[in-house]
Amino acid sequence: MPIPQQPNEKTLKTPDAVTFGKDLRGIVRARTRLAVCFWTLPVYVVSIWMLLNNGHSIDSMMWIYMAVYAGFAIDMSMRNCPNCRKQFYVKSIFLNLLTKQCVHCEQTSILTESPPKH
Ligand SMILES: [Zn+2]
Repeated sequence: MPIPQQPNEKTLKTPDAVTFGKDLRGIVRARTRLAVCFWTLPVYVVSIWMLLNNGHSIDSMMWIYMAVYAGFAIDMSMRNCPNCRKQFYVKSIFLNLLTKQCVHCEQTSILTESPPKH
């Protein structure tokens, strides 16, 4: 027996909903990128140690690594909440790396709807 469809059910395919989902995915991706960067820290420390043992210069590698970190952190801090349009992870000057919610309106970054098919 088929489940009757609700005639007044709100459609999720409005442009607003699509932008909302896109913003949230961007927010999650920015956070994931920085998290992955943190996970590579032991690899970075080991390779620095190996380079130093072999008498190589680590200057360029250090700068590149720091630039990547800074880039990802800036990208993450500039993400705006699609709900309240404020910075999703930044309250005053602190970047909250652990939260999965907007620090202003507690909008969650976890999508409940299915992603639009493109
Ligand atoms: Zn918000």
